[in-house]
Amino acid sequence: MPTIFSRIAKGEIPSYKIAEDNRFYAFLDINPLAKGHTLVIPKVEVDYIFDLDPETLAGLTLFAQRVAKAIERVIPCKRIGVAVLGLEVPHAHIHLVPLNRESDIDFHKPKLKLTEKEFNEIAQKIAAEFK
Ligand code: 5GP
Repeated sequence: MPTIFSRIAKGEIPSYKIAEDNRFYAFLDINPLAKGHTLVIPKVEVDYIFDLDPETLAGLTLFAQRVAKAIERVIPCKRIGVAVLGLEVPHAHIHLVPLNRESDIDFHKPKLKLTEKEFNEIAQKIAAEFK
């Protein structure tokens, strides 16, 4: 059974896409901690991030850096926080969360409720800044 994130990367399940190449895919988290909260995944289906082969892990990190730079250009924040949990979806992913204070990356806090229009606008703006 493919993971939900594999199905998203293949376009079988819709997502608010930020960027992709042949190995990686970035899209907005559907339950964001902050506007611009993005997930970055490898297309290869590996559950635990530290089980990725070294080249893929390095590539994922470099791809996440480019995505973070694009988020910074759109979402006013002090910096982009990085988290790896993976307790919910068994497909390696990096959370990128715009931060102004430490509590902005508290996964226990209530998630933002954004409209489809808001998700689309944020995704389009960040995607346009991806280089
Ligand atoms: P984790 O596995 O890192 O603990 O959490 C998985 C994250 O993926 C959560 O923040 C959750 O909101 C997000 N997520 C789960 N299912 C979907 C989905 O179908 N679409 C999107 N965009 N995000 C998802």
